[in-house]
Amino acid sequence: MVAAWSLSPTVSVVNDLIFIALTIPGIVFAALASRTLSGRRRMVWVSIAIGLAGWGIGQVISTYYEVALHHVPFPSVADAGFLLLPVGACAALLFFPVDRSQSRTRLFLDGIIVAGSLFLASWVTILEPLWVSGGPRRLAFVISMIYPLADILVLTIAAVVLVSASAGHRLSLMLLTAGAACFALSDSGFAYLDATDAYGSGNITDIGWAAGLLLISVAAVAARDGQDDERDSLALPGWTSVWMPYAPLLFAGIVAAAQPVPLLKTPPVLLVTGLLVVAVLARQFVAVRENRRLVATVADQAMHDPLTGLANRALFNERLEHAMQLHEREALSLAVVSIDLNDFKLVNDNLGHLVGDDLLVGVARRLRDCARKGDTVARLGGDEFSILVVGGAAMAERVGGRIVAVFEEPFQLSGHELLMRPSIGLAMADSDNPDLAAEELLRRADAAMYSAKRARFRGVQIYNPDMHLADEQHFDAPAPTPDGGGAAAVHLLGRLRQAVDNAELTLVYQPKFDLRTAEMVGAEGLLRWPQLDGSVLGPEEFLPLVRRHGLMGLVTELVITRALDDALAWRQAGVDVPVAVNLFAPSMANSGLPATLVKALADRGLRPESLVVEITEDLFLGRLEQTRMVLEQLRHNGIRVAIDDFGSGYSALSYLRDLPIDEVKLDRNFIASILVDARAAAVVRAVVELAHVLDLTVVVEGVEDAATAKLVRELGCDVGQGFYYGQPVSPEELLRLAQRPASGTTAQ
Ligand code: C2E
Ligand code: CA
Ligand code: CA
Repeated sequence: MVAAWSLSPTVSVVNDLIFIALTIPGIVFAALASRTLSGRRRMVWVSIAIGLAGWGIGQVISTYYEVALHHVPFPSVADAGFLLLPVGACAALLFFPVDRSQSRTRLFLDGIIVAGSLFLASWVTILEPLWVSGGPRRLAFVISMIYPLADILVLTIAAVVLVSASAGHRLSLMLLTAGAACFALSDSGFAYLDATDAYGSGNITDIGWAAGLLLISVAAVAARDGQDDERDSLALPGWTSVWMPYAPLLFAGIVAAAQPVPLLKTPPVLLVTGLLVVAVLARQFVAVRENRRLVATVADQAMHDPLTGLANRALFNERLEHAMQLHEREALSLAVVSIDLNDFKLVNDNLGHLVGDDLLVGVARRLRDCARKGDTVARLGGDEFSILVVGGAAMAERVGGRIVAVFEEPFQLSGHELLMRPSIGLAMADSDNPDLAAEELLRRADAAMYSAKRARFRGVQIYNPDMHLADEQHFDAPAPTPDGGGAAAVHLLGRLRQAVDNAELTLVYQPKFDLRTAEMVGAEGLLRWPQLDGSVLGPEEFLPLVRRHGLMGLVTELVITRALDDALAWRQAGVDVPVAVNLFAPSMANSGLPATLVKALADRGLRPESLVVEITEDLFLGRLEQTRMVLEQLRHNGIRVAIDDFGSGYSALSYLRDLPIDEVKLDRNFIASILVDARAAAVVRAVVELAHVLDLTVVVEGVEDAATAKLVRELGCDVGQGFYYGQPVSPEELLRLAQRPASGTTAQ
């Protein structure tokens, strides 16, 4: 075009053919983009492809005219094809995914500013002269006006969509907009030249169309790599929204400034200028209001936990402080409920952090349902939650009770069914303690929660003053944080590591008795950690650390070695008491376990029946299949398997049927109320009968008195264990007990 700076017919035809060729990559890339995308984004490129096809057909028709008639009539059917492109472009732009959180008022005002500016610019340069000279060729004039006006519409929509598009779509949208702008320039040039009868194919203005077609093709290619980033919680408007509406305004200003003054005084110019001034002022106002709202949102987010949306520690402390002031001044009663998940770290370690996050969100939702409107539910960190309950003791306990209840349901997490247990502590600030500090109230709730955790207590632990004392003895710190933080806990962990390395942990044995013959039929090994000062720590005090810090494997190894060594010693002394060991739930998914146990037994020449493995049904962590395989191998090798703490969990009955086991140990809490509650006794009886049908031995744990012992025997339990029959004792002491002939009195 540039070289042959003339309107010779050959150049025109070559030029037309080039245009037809140029639409092809555009259509192909748009079609490809629409195939790889989906939903609204697919429709964008379908519309573009249709528009381009229309334009291409228009071009074919006009080329035909040019070749056959040596003259392109205007208007003609070709224009119908050409006009399909702005229609398709508008549709495409409207299909672009936009960020819905942005203010519609501002988008609307932006639209007015852009449209007004573009109209102004094209009015003073092209439309006004056309209007004046339009005279006789009415239809041609109207059609030639449609092109620039359609372009203004496209560009306006493009600008508005560009402002609100999410970042991932911005590149292809910008290219598309640039293409539309090129078209707009050429269309305007065409309209102008046509009106003055100076147009012929091959004119310099055609370059805009060529560039536009190429830009649209590139936009289609770019669209395929566009990312969706929908997860931005706080949608920050892009920089585009800052300069976009003003760029066309500046452009219009510059164009208008170059015009003679009388033209600027014509009514359309004055009217549109006035409109623009109003729109800009209104937009300014809207922008300021939006900023204020944004600041408020940010302030709000600073007070909330981003994962769960609950109050964070800062907000909780603020509310607590405020409530404590009311407590002091107006004797308002309030309570803090501290909640910490048991074995949350197991979930994180075994199922990954995403599942852990899902779990926390689910927990947050349930906790929110437990509280009333005015209460504050907060996540203080990790798996630590707190609820500030305004109201008396009855209210606080009701909230606590609801928390216990909502955790009865297992959580459904990406294919895993997980039963999580919380430890719950409650502390009150009521008329009995008028000048309690907020900090102290929190500390008390934590102490109660921690005490619940140690006792594996399933209910709501209410604070009592002994709790701090207990903590101070073992941890030298007022309230060790449950996630193992704090200098004292770190110190304890260090000593524990040493104790495990030096095999300082020991086992005591609690005997089990056949309830009919009163014969000792086994002994359960229970871990102890003797301290330098002569005191002894129980498992509840250090097993959480073992679990949390990856010491489970070492501890299990130590326990098995000790238990089998002791069993061997007993046998050498002439008594054959099977020994039971407790295993951590995750060990059961370890496929090497059966072989290790078999070897340990064989090394000592012990029969596999000398070993019972106790597992809790607490938490199989969705690894039920793996656990089942391990269990099957254990039993296949003759090692017995017992389900521990039965009746304290949730899906217990189905485990009885589904898991390959030999023994079921009824939990202390499960049988606690059978003496006073006939219904509880009936439930125990039913479970015993079911277990017997499944050929399982029923062991009853934690029997503390003669009346219970009598009743459990009547209910059909096979084996008894508990303080009533015998305390946990040293291996030597157990040997002495076993050597005593069964007197028949112990078990009755
Ligand atoms: P568990 O397996 O249910 O063990 C029974 C617990 O109940 C023992 O507490 C025992 O001393 C206590 N107990 C026995 N009879 C009575 C009774 O009549 N009344 C009451 N109130 N309690 C009774 P301990 O030794 O503190 O063990 C607590 C838990 O620690 C065990 O519960 C077990 O889950 C875990 N544990 C103990 N030793 C080991 C071990 O070697 N490995 C693993 N993985 N866990 C262990
Ligand atoms: Ca046990
Ligand atoms: Ca137990």
